[in-house]
Amino acid sequence: MSHSFEDALSEAALPASGEPAYLKGLNPHQREAVLSQDGPVLVLAGAGTGKTRVLTTRLAHLLHSRKAYPGQILAVTFTNKAAREMKERIGMLIGGVVEGMQWLGTFHSIGARMLRRHAELAGLKSNFTILDTDDQLRLIKQVVKAADLDEKRHPPRQLAALIDRWKNRGWLPADVPNGEAYGYAAGKGALLYAAYQQRLLDLNTADFGDLLLAPIKILRENPDVLEEYRRRFVYMLVDEYQDTNIAQHQWLKLLADPRHNICCVGDDDQSIYGWRGAEVDNILSFERDYPGAKVVRLERNYRSTPEILSAASGLIKENRGRHGKTLWTEAAEGDRVTVLSVWDAEEEARQIADELELLPKKGERLASAAILVRASHQMREFEERFVAVGLPYRVIGGPRFYERQEIRDALAYLRVVHQGDDDLAFERIVNKPKRGIGDKALQDIQTAARRMGVSLGMAARRLADSDEITGKARTSLRQLMDGFDRWRIAAGSLPHVDLATLVLEESGYVEMWQADKSVEAEGRLENLKELIRSMEGFENLQGFLEHVSLVMEAEQNETGDKVSIMTLHGAKGLEFDTVFLPGWEEGLFPSQRSMDENGLAGLEEERRLAYVGITRGKKRVQISHAANRRTHGLWQSAIPSRFVSELPPGAVELKEGLGGGGFNARQGFSENRWSNADFSSSYDSPGWKRAQSNVRPGMQRPRAPLIEAQATIVSSDPDSAGFGRGDEVLHAKFGRGKVTHADGNKLTVRFQDGSEKKVIAAFLNRA
Ligand code: ATP
Ligand code: MG
Repeated sequence: MSHSFEDALSEAALPASGEPAYLKGLNPHQREAVLSQDGPVLVLAGAGTGKTRVLTTRLAHLLHSRKAYPGQILAVTFTNKAAREMKERIGMLIGGVVEGMQWLGTFHSIGARMLRRHAELAGLKSNFTILDTDDQLRLIKQVVKAADLDEKRHPPRQLAALIDRWKNRGWLPADVPNGEAYGYAAGKGALLYAAYQQRLLDLNTADFGDLLLAPIKILRENPDVLEEYRRRFVYMLVDEYQDTNIAQHQWLKLLADPRHNICCVGDDDQSIYGWRGAEVDNILSFERDYPGAKVVRLERNYRSTPEILSAASGLIKENRGRHGKTLWTEAAEGDRVTVLSVWDAEEEARQIADELELLPKKGERLASAAILVRASHQMREFEERFVAVGLPYRVIGGPRFYERQEIRDALAYLRVVHQGDDDLAFERIVNKPKRGIGDKALQDIQTAARRMGVSLGMAARRLADSDEITGKARTSLRQLMDGFDRWRIAAGSLPHVDLATLVLEESGYVEMWQADKSVEAEGRLENLKELIRSMEGFENLQGFLEHVSLVMEAEQNETGDKVSIMTLHGAKGLEFDTVFLPGWEEGLFPSQRSMDENGLAGLEEERRLAYVGITRGKKRVQISHAANRRTHGLWQSAIPSRFVSELPPGAVELKEGLGGGGFNARQGFSENRWSNADFSSSYDSPGWKRAQSNVRPGMQRPRAPLIEAQATIVSSDPDSAGFGRGDEVLHAKFGRGKVTHADGNKLTVRFQDGSEKKVIAAFLNRA
């Protein structure tokens, strides 16, 4: 098996025809990194220099030269998507499908796999569930409550953040230093952390941090297990090493010792997860961790035009704490990076949609373009516009889809079917839809469970058959528990997709949304359908639930030519011909929160994020900023991001948004002597009121969400309500009705279903 570096080099010296084709395209430095097979290797290089390509080729080469079997290579990628792509690329390089790469994936997925194999060593059963952040918080709340702490003075969220941070550092409860533990409830932090861990074990569940922390503990405490893995992983490869945290670093080090056949690639300028505990020091101290490491630097960028590269390099130069790097390219000159200024997010979305629509006409694919946002709330505007004009898109990154309320509810049902003692899931759905099992009944169940030392489900089953609970709650509980019995039996024979449909229908959950007349209900039903569809790709319920817990990308319908929308964080490592970077405004990007919490370090991390964004582009990059943005329901005037002014002027071209045929905001403004300064913080501001009263007939109002806009007008001018007794009206939610009483803009309306409701005129239209 052993095959020295010298051998490898002489292999490289073979005549071109004698070496595998995948080596041919590499430059000498990349080649060196691929061919130094044994011993530690670090590739520390800027964006687009081929680090990931080196890693993939190296993996292919290890397999091709029979240095290791697929099952003997541990390869860590940043996302599940990256893992899939890597498998595909390796398949292309060495031909055929790559079977048996069981240990290629994200830290989370590999950690989960390891933990399942040895769950009992960590006090878990191998069918443990993985807790998502929402459930994690609920559990922490329970722990805080059980300790009789005042939730207001000691917010559970704060404890959750601390525990997360401790886990990222590889600390078990006993490891938390006193000073740190003082960060919560006068030193109770570590105790509560221990209590929380115990609760996790009781529930047979692990949170994300545990997926690595528990394996570290297992490896440390069980030398035979450690030995097994050290023997198994002959080679280790890690992408995006700059974003590993301390726990990940410890886990890698445990496995890599003493052989040190580890190759890490990364770029300190792209470290963007400091807020999640990433330690850029890991990459900078690689040579200390692995003495004698070969360090390879790559300088040629193969991805972007010189203009894009120069914009990115100019920007990142502003960061002080960095090791300077040179990047050069032989790519032909291209377009300058454009900076577009628009009126608001709606115009931004419209402009970008217009440009995207031109792509297919120019013979380019939509899939070659991406919109990278700083904050996920920016996405909705694009989604709405794209839906309106029928532009195919997909949202990538973040577990958003699975975080939606209806999806989480549906998953909770499935989790209880799958694992009867999943208390958190049980709590979530026991009274959803409302079936008369209120807080009181739930408390009874909880007390019973505690007294009997059983799960909530089990306790509920028993209570339902007793007289402890009476009336509606009892009948409903019995119905629900009978349902679970039935569904579990069905699970034995029914395909999981059909099972899910059955559960959601019989439980009354689907009906609940069908009966809901709110605007979102329809979308929620669509999402539920989408959930069922997404289950088809899995062998069974367990596989699906596991996927959901792990998935970092919301993969909605992967096929087809679609533009991608994702966060900047999610875009790391990816590349697109055309990249749109919207929302470059102070406060949004750089994010105010990040600067408030971490000062200069926060700002520099934001700047690295901007660098990541620009360097995703191969041919075209367009940055945009709006003069007004609505955040948390309030309109705010915005000023362009400082990052815009930090771009080297030579690489940039300024562009004015002209609103594409809609209301020309800027003209409207000058006519009415509005200034941006007037247009501040909220609808109640004098600026906004003035704006409203300056609107003349025939002229479109400045864009604002319809309802609020109307509401404001109504309140500043009661006459405009204009509804009187006897008028036939239409209400968005309640439907058609007749006004029975009018008092300014406050009306009483009798609706067709016979109900009488007090409504605000702003929500009514004439029927
Ligand atoms: P990032 O820092 O963004 O993760 P990276 O360093 O991992 O970037 P890659 O994604 O591996 O860079 O490569 C960037 C692009 O350059 C890819 O399209 C890749 O195929 C191409 N590339 C890399 N090396 C070469 C080469 N030697 N010849 C031609 N193209 C190359
Ligand atoms: Mg990469």
